[in-house]
Amino acid sequence: MNNKKFQRFVKSFFVAGIIFFAGNIAWAQQRPVLSTIIVDPGHGGIDPGASGQFSTEAAVALSISLKLGKALAEQLPESKVIFTRTTDELPGGLGNIREALRYRADMANQAKGDLFIAIHCNANGHRAGGWYAKRIVGHKNRTVTVGRGSKRRKKTIREPIYESYWQKNNEHGTETYIWAADRIGYKGEAIQSIGGEGEGGENVEDSTNELDLNSPEAMIRAQLYEKKFFGKSLSLATMVEDEFVKQGRDSRGVKQRNEKGIWVLQATGMPSILVETGFITQTEEEEYINSEKGQEEIVAAIMGAIKRYKTSLEGLAPPAPAK
Ligand SMILES: [Zn+2]
Repeated sequence: MNNKKFQRFVKSFFVAGIIFFAGNIAWAQQRPVLSTIIVDPGHGGIDPGASGQFSTEAAVALSISLKLGKALAEQLPESKVIFTRTTDELPGGLGNIREALRYRADMANQAKGDLFIAIHCNANGHRAGGWYAKRIVGHKNRTVTVGRGSKRRKKTIREPIYESYWQKNNEHGTETYIWAADRIGYKGEAIQSIGGEGEGGENVEDSTNELDLNSPEAMIRAQLYEKKFFGKSLSLATMVEDEFVKQGRDSRGVKQRNEKGIWVLQATGMPSILVETGFITQTEEEEYINSEKGQEEIVAAIMGAIKRYKTSLEGLAPPAPAK
């Protein structure tokens, strides 16, 4: 090998080394930041959640969740998707709502999830669709006879005229919940809550009475959540509502709560959100969240947000350690 050939050999060796090194960096950067995503369809089994005029929250949540799982598998194939339930039953086939809630959280934690997304739909505590109510539209005079015997006399009284009218249940829109990172408020105080009862109005509330939020274990979990997961949960929740707005939905915004209805969000050691995809108690929105088109749009909005969230995480990811 002459000198020139040797130089070329050395050069190619260096080039190969640089390509190998660069490849390693690229590989490290491409490692999925969302290795495991937990999709949690709310309610199930003995717990149908809120009821609309023809559908239940449990069924709608399951249908949207399965579509979301499919979209994740197609669009983020490097992420593993785990469902807390894929049938009409409560997670784990359990017959107790509280145990099923723990099961959801345990499942997410054991899988070491990077993200927990609960899918629900909203209700405002009033009759789905609407109800008949009465209102006074005017008054009329009526002559009545009062008194007895010689004291009998005629008297004119004024009476209200009632009209029956249909009161439409019109509360609608999307909202995304995150666990409130607030150390003083672990007594079930809603930090920001406008309008409907949301999850609090559902029958999950009763079943979580024994889920202690004031135990030392829960306090430690809450502090960990505040330090590690609150910011990311808020960021993703904001993106979800932003995507709904882009689609023309009415967004009621991101809500922070720390009440038992969304207990599962703080029990998962990972960023977590609960998406209220629409009000099952409003006629048009119930039709929308049950329709193929509606469910696909809801999934598209959540997917759009997850992808933006993923990109933001990759931007923040520290460089891979040298091998
Ligand atoms: Zn729910």
